[in-house]
This record gives sequence, structure tokens and C-alpha cells, in this order.
Amino acid sequence: MGEKKCPHCGKWSDWNQNLTDTCQHCGKPLGGKDLEFQEKRAAQEKAREEQWIFYIKETDSDFVKGMKKTGNFFYTIYISIITFIAWLIAALPG
Ligand SMILES: [Zn+2]
Repeated sequence: MGEKKCPHCGKWSDWNQNLTDTCQHCGKPLGGKDLEFQEKRAAQEKAREEQWIFYIKETDSDFVKGMKKTGNFFYTIYISIITFIAWLIAALPG
């Protein structure tokens, strides 16, 4: 428990070190720039996840979901094999 100067109204407000705590005076989040930054990063991460070819969306049909799950499964195997071959080449003498 501490106090933080509200970035919106400039008054001091109690807060629990939590960026989403709101100001006692104006009701806006006390996080200010830090919170903005955190939200921006979360949004970027979400966008990157959704760009993933096998990302399963709520709106996908069962067929598409099944295809994506299968694709993701084989992609994982594919990466494992590539990693194994890379290791094998590295482990071979000469
Ligand atoms: Zn405020």
C-alpha cells in the first residue's frame, strides 16, 4: 500500500502498486504511461499470436480448427526433426 500521484488530475491517491488501480479523485487508472506501455505490449503480443498460421480463432469452423490443430502438431514435429538434424550435423566429426 502506498501513494501515487495521479497522472490525470495530479492529486495523490492510495494505490496497491497495481497499474490498473484507479485514482480516488478522478477514477482514471493510476498506471499512466506504464499502463499504456503494458497494454500496448499485450496488444502487440496478441497480434503476433493471431498472425501465427495455426492460430485457432473462436470464429473458425470445427473443420478449420481440426486442420489447424493437425498443422500445429506436424509443425512441432517438423521443428523437432530440423533441430535433431542440426544437432546431428553439429555432432558429426569433421
Ligand atoms: Zn486522478
